[in-house]
Amino acid sequence: MMPKASVTVVGGGLAGAEAAWQAAQRGVPVRLFEMRPAARTPAHQTHLLAELVCSNSLKSQDPTSASGLLHAEAERLGSVIQQVARAHAVPAGTALAVDRTAFAHEVTRRIEDHPLIEVRREEVTAVPSERPVIIATGPLTSSPLAENLRRLFREFMEEQSPSAAPGARLLYFYDAISPILSAESVDRGKVFAASRYGKGGDDYWNCPMTEEEYEPFWQALIAAELYPLHDFEDLEEACFFEGCLPLEELARRDKEALLYGPLKPVGLTDPRTGRRPCAVVQLRQEDKAGQMVNMVGFQTRLKRGEQQRIFRMIPGLEQAEFLRYGSLHRNTYVPAPLLLEPTLQFKGDKGLFIAGQLIGVEGYLESMVAGLLAGISAARLVQGLEPISPPGDTMIGALLRYITSADPSRFQPMNANFGLLPPLDVRVRDRRERKAALARRSLEAMEAWTRIFA
Ligand SMILES: Cc1cc2nc3c(=O)[nH]c(=O)nc-3n(C[C@H](O)[C@H](O)[C@H](O)COP(=O)(O)OP(=O)(O)OC[C@H]3O[C@@H](n4cnc5c(N)ncnc54)[C@H](O)[C@@H]3O)c2cc1C
Repeated sequence: MMPKASVTVVGGGLAGAEAAWQAAQRGVPVRLFEMRPAARTPAHQTHLLAELVCSNSLKSQDPTSASGLLHAEAERLGSVIQQVARAHAVPAGTALAVDRTAFAHEVTRRIEDHPLIEVRREEVTAVPSERPVIIATGPLTSSPLAENLRRLFREFMEEQSPSAAPGARLLYFYDAISPILSAESVDRGKVFAASRYGKGGDDYWNCPMTEEEYEPFWQALIAAELYPLHDFEDLEEACFFEGCLPLEELARRDKEALLYGPLKPVGLTDPRTGRRPCAVVQLRQEDKAGQMVNMVGFQTRLKRGEQQRIFRMIPGLEQAEFLRYGSLHRNTYVPAPLLLEPTLQFKGDKGLFIAGQLIGVEGYLESMVAGLLAGISAARLVQGLEPISPPGDTMIGALLRYITSADPSRFQPMNANFGLLPPLDVRVRDRRERKAALARRSLEAMEAWTRIFA
């Protein structure tokens, strides 16, 4: 029997697992609901908690990048997801990429073995009545719960301001995933191992393309058959998240777009020619054993047959075996500026927290840190303390402030980036030095804050 004062978490993804861990580590019992394997999402493949649905990368750890800063802040807050990710890292230059299966297995084991966490494999169809409760059901929240949230938010907005009520609907965008190939099916004689600008050793396999090879590939891509969007309603409102645009959408902009995006050759020299290729397709190791590779930036909604036909035009991939095809999914999120406090509490019910990608952040790391803070704050509520949110000059604090104060009429999911941070007091012209100074200031602020609160 669980004691009465506990935290309820719905959703065992990156955010929910981290939230449950944080609350339990503070001595507060947690009941975590995860609907898999009984109910499925269109993207998850396993029953494991914290499953990474697409890329296996948690982005750069370079401390002068926005994601590197987020990593550093999450570390100071004691993120379990990050600890486990480091333990199961695979080579990926400055990025923290993981063996996704080993990673998710270990997160699952740690959560299930925690003496204060009870994991229930059940779909939650309405916001539970227990408080505090954290809803972290992610971009693929199941329909009954999404409908229940929609009704709850609409009622709240009608009470607050009837004219703003239509703005309180759940929002969404489309997100696509990249194919995974069997490593042994790649023709190693045609690809070269290197990282861009030599940063991070020989961690990527690079498939070089000449102009004569790129042109027909691009032509085939823009004429390829796509899966229709008929599974999705309200198509006129469909939009793609710019950072995860399907390859073919980008290709349709113009012939050069891919050469400045996922096929960019800069910083890569083919050792066989001594020259920079016209285009480069990068493959990143997917698992520790090195049996699988991910096609970097190749998220797509091409039909499966088209993925085989067109991606096999890439030098080195003529015999590629597809272990997972690329695909497209609808991502749900809430209009956070209308509904949430920077502590991630729902304005209409301070015992209800929303966390993870559902709040309108984009990315594994961003979702995880949102779960982390909701977990800390929910535990504090149980302990009779005030919920918290880091200061605005930390990356996490700045991100939460942005999503809860952005213009609601144009609200779109947001990644961590240096533009969210308040400017430095002194002008630093050099971009890298400026980012380093911003990162230093953020970490000092985070360290001071964690000494008091976390
Ligand atoms: C197709 C796709 C591709 C993506 N690719 C990337 C990428 O390459 N890189 C990146 O950084 N981010 C990517 N994202 C975003 C990524 O999903 C999120 O960043 C991250 O997984 C969100 O974490 P989360 O914990 O909020 O949600 P999730 O990790 O999705 O976890 C939510 C959990 O809630 C469960 N759940 C849902 N509804 C219920 C319910 N009613 N009751 C109980 N449990 C429920 C789900 O089964 C799931 O386990 C992608 C998203 C999608 C949809």
